Amino acid sequence: PEIARQIAAGEVVSRPLDAVRELVDNALDAGATRIEIELEGGGLRLLRVRDNGVGIPEDQVSLAPLRHATSKLESVERVTTLGFRGEALWALAQAGRLTLLTRPAAQLGAVQLEAHQGSVTVRRVSAPAGTSVSITELFGHLPARLRTQAAPAAEVREVVTLLSRYVLHHPVLHWRLTVDGEPRLQHAPGDVRGAVGSVYGPLSANRVLKLDAQAGTLRLEGVLSRPELTRPRRDRMHFSVNGRPVLAPPELEKAVIDGYAELLPAGQAPLCVLNLTLPPEDVNPNVHPAKAHVALADLPALAEHVQHLVSQALSTHPL
Ligand code: ADP
Ligand code: MG
Repeated sequence: PEIARQIAAGEVVSRPLDAVRELVDNALDAGATRIEIELEGGGLRLLRVRDNGVGIPEDQVSLAPLRHATSKLESVERVTTLGFRGEALWALAQAGRLTLLTRPAAQLGAVQLEAHQGSVTVRRVSAPAGTSVSITELFGHLPARLRTQAAPAAEVREVVTLLSRYVLHHPVLHWRLTVDGEPRLQHAPGDVRGAVGSVYGPLSANRVLKLDAQAGTLRLEGVLSRPELTRPRRDRMHFSVNGRPVLAPPELEKAVIDGYAELLPAGQAPLCVLNLTLPPEDVNPNVHPAKAHVALADLPALAEHVQHLVSQALSTHPL
């Protein structure tokens, strides 16, 4: 059972990147407006996510790292939060040393919980409102898992890419990533254009057009680059669905490119950040363990709406 548990935990968190994604999702679910991430040693020595969200009430803290403990799930058919399996904190407590420090704003004292494999200790401390989750010695007792880890610099690059997507999709929040004590990505609350500036630099921010339009049940909002800001790769095309950054189905990327039509040289892709809002019942986020993919109802019709709205936005803006 010990081995089975470690294998199951390893499917939820197999590398520092997974831990960052799960903890940032928790911070967003908690309604945080400020999210700070710290990594040391590529996240293996220390990985911390701190937020100013709702916190966990004292009487529920010791439940949080139990398997399948979630305060979120109301119905699998209508998932509105980013987390819903109740496995992330549990898996992190299996994979390393977890320290959870949390306080709802209305509660006087904070609670600090330390969990490592089977053992859990809880004590009252003082701390600002919100939640901080730290993991040290990630995979420290799992040599096989440790051996398959990327070099710290490579893992950090992946984390920067992941957090860039969060910044682009949640520009009204305050974000900070610190790597080995050095600031690596920072964003002060603003709009999507500001987020493009934080991630790709101020020059790029000046070359994007804003878009906010509706077709059928789809609301499409975000920015599109002017046609001159293009790249041969699609790595600057960013999508979110109902607030969750996703790896877009290729059909949606193609729909955006087709929306540019002859404005875009063949083989080129634009920079875009497109937030799709759809009825929750048309979106199933439960198709991939890393939750980066979503299943969307009636993709061909959706792609048609997207292409139409992109082409309309480009034709009504002075380019
Ligand atoms: P899930 O997100 O799927 O519910 P997790 O294991 O990630 O499962 O978290 C377990 C529970 O702990 C959550 O349902 C939530 O109640 C609480 N929790 C975790 N992180 C935070 C946070 N940053 N702020 C507030 N509550 C949190
Ligand atoms: Mg979660």
